[in-house]
Amino acid sequence: MSLMPPPLAILAELTHRCPLRCPYCSNPVELARAREELSTDEWIDLMRQAAAIGVLQVHLSGGEPTVRKDLEQIVTAAREIGIYTNLITSAVLLDQARVEALAAAGLDHVQISFQDSEPGPADRIGGYAGGHEKKRAVAAWVRAAGLPLTVNLVVHRQNLSHLGAMIEMAASMDARRIEVAHVQYYGWGLVNRAALVPTRAQVAAADDVVAEARARLEGRAVIDYVVPDYYARRPKPCMGGWARQFLTVTPAGKVLPCHAADSIPGLVFESIRERPLAEIWESSEAFRRFRGTDWMPEPCRSCDRREIDWGGCRCQAFALVGDAAATDPACGLSPHHARIAALAARESEVGEGSFLYRSFATVDEARAASGLTRDRERPEAAVPPAPG
Ligand code: SF4
Ligand code: SF4
Repeated sequence: MSLMPPPLAILAELTHRCPLRCPYCSNPVELARAREELSTDEWIDLMRQAAAIGVLQVHLSGGEPTVRKDLEQIVTAAREIGIYTNLITSAVLLDQARVEALAAAGLDHVQISFQDSEPGPADRIGGYAGGHEKKRAVAAWVRAAGLPLTVNLVVHRQNLSHLGAMIEMAASMDARRIEVAHVQYYGWGLVNRAALVPTRAQVAAADDVVAEARARLEGRAVIDYVVPDYYARRPKPCMGGWARQFLTVTPAGKVLPCHAADSIPGLVFESIRERPLAEIWESSEAFRRFRGTDWMPEPCRSCDRREIDWGGCRCQAFALVGDAAATDPACGLSPHHARIAALAARESEVGEGSFLYRSFATVDEARAASGLTRDRERPEAAVPPAPG
């Protein structure tokens, strides 16, 4: 008999292969190769196990999930098992026939990401020529197939001045939900932080753009807005708290409390190839490490928000101060907060900045840039001390 309530949803990273090369990709720097990926049967078995413990939704993601030729089989199985399916896709590999096949297989929802409002900058950011126009075509096919559409807009210093036009574009494609998300700085986003982090003025302007668009689009589309951590006063309740509501399964079957958790060295994440999902969720050492509030240091331990934001993001705490058990430095009560905000402000002033594009070919460079050794140990905290 399980003591933990089940996760609400699973993020199933079917693959790390992807034709795009977004510099803010939330995939880990250490990308899984195709030969490591779970088989069709293993993914279907995972969904059976998930349904058995009460999971209601699976987000089929990647990388780019449509590189998997068995996607329709996985969707069909999920429908039979009774799990709601959301396809999170860059869309560039889809054609109309495949969209229709996925709808016929029982897919419930599609989320397409856009990099900008115009083809030139969008294709430069995504590192994929022709991607933007293809995405627009796929969005139309998704709606024609009767599937609900969410448009995901990841924003940063190099596209924030187009945010109004991006929202307008999403609304014109009949997206009922528009997700405006500032880049989260771990994985490839951390490697490219200096090229992506916005200025304070850009963030303030974006807040106004979103507020205006929300009012204008009321009744037509809902806008979700993920604010940037580095300029925040209090952190987000990352994943609703560590190992409380969500889990991620990597292409090779590792089960994580969030998609970036494998960036934290010293935690052993188990695989569904070795242990049943229910046991991992309930009692895996890595899941129990930061679950609840017992692990918290001060100031979280005695803070009245500790069961609201759960101390923020463990991956960000590790990435920025080298200690996954620290208060998230996005919190104004963290002793590191002022340094982080100053760092963001300093990096945002450096100019446009070129990207280290995300790809299998650039993993070594990204590993070096993020200070990781091959066995994932990070010798020093990623944030240098303030000058002077
Ligand atoms: S963020 Fe970009 S590179 Fe990463 S999986 Fe999505 S589309 Fe591919
Ligand atoms: S001190 Fe901890 S619990 Fe309190 S607001 Fe900051 S991160 Fe949240």
